Amino acid sequence: MEALRVEDLWVKYYTASGVVSAVSAVSFTMKRGEMLGVVGESGSGKSTLGFALMNMVPPPGRIVKGAVILDGRNILELGSKELRGIRGSRISMVFQDPFTTLDPLRKVSDQFVEFLMEHGLSKEEAQSRSYQLLAAVGIPERLRDAYPHQLSGGQKQRVSIAMAIALNPSIVVADEPTTALDVIVQKQIMDLMNEIRVKHNVSIMLITHDIALALERTDKILVMYGGEVMEYAGKDDLMREMFHPYTKALFASLPRISSKELPRFLKGYPPDLRNPPKGCVFNPRCEYATDKCRVEKPVLREVSPGHYASCHYAGELDAAT
Ligand code: ATP
Ligand code: MG
Repeated sequence: MEALRVEDLWVKYYTASGVVSAVSAVSFTMKRGEMLGVVGESGSGKSTLGFALMNMVPPPGRIVKGAVILDGRNILELGSKELRGIRGSRISMVFQDPFTTLDPLRKVSDQFVEFLMEHGLSKEEAQSRSYQLLAAVGIPERLRDAYPHQLSGGQKQRVSIAMAIALNPSIVVADEPTTALDVIVQKQIMDLMNEIRVKHNVSIMLITHDIALALERTDKILVMYGGEVMEYAGKDDLMREMFHPYTKALFASLPRISSKELPRFLKGYPPDLRNPPKGCVFNPRCEYATDKCRVEKPVLREVSPGHYASCHYAGELDAAT
């Protein structure tokens, strides 16, 4: 069942030094209970996309075009009151830094209860629901009344996850949720998110620059570059065949334990999105680029069933690369 549909989404930041095209022509769908990985280098538009799904792009950013369809409604057309009702309850967000969600000066349980009361629960209901959720994400009873600074990074992230799922949303956008944590805690938090996904049938958008993590944890992968979708496919399909040279380069940068080959890194830099290159946004760094790529922008197309790529030569390039 479809949980979310994004259609032709465009987001720009209107800065003093120019207009940044942070997300351009992005379309995809998320199924109920699925984990979608959004990967790409720094500045490729991943976080902007995450914010746009909640209609929460910070100024000077603005969604200039597109639709985000949730429960049959385009949330980009809703008024601020309706939006407040949807955020948290139908779609919610977990950030890299849990302090984004938690006020450092107030007790964790008070913040949680208040959040639930804002969404219509009575004080008693909010209290029992928050205790139940904190226990479910592994926060011991003695820490309920702690202040955020008394919790470890992993514990704080557990609290933000509990708040994100408290109202049974169908979508959780998690933006680098484990990046600030050490490896063992990372695994625990990812295990927790996966458990929640299965138990509550919630769709999770996992935004990460960590390709290995995306490979290990997701069902589907959306590869972004320069604010555009380069490739979008089920993880297994993508592993079988990568159609876009950028995807190949990105995944080739993974160290391969089984191979004597040295990891290859992508040369050059991501584009300046105030003035993106003509034609394919990846062409200046692409080893296959032709004159056509320098002039004509490729559109995202379905190269094989359910497997999309935005490259003029998708499916024609040497599969061994
Ligand atoms: P990272 O991996 O570093 O988190 P990202 O893929 O999440 O990167 P975004 O933060 O979405 O990328 O940024 C996309 C583009 O929009 C970049 O060119 C960035 O410089 C620009 N951008 C992001 N936020 C703002 C802002 N508040 N004002 C102006 N430009 C911004
Ligand atoms: Mg980001």
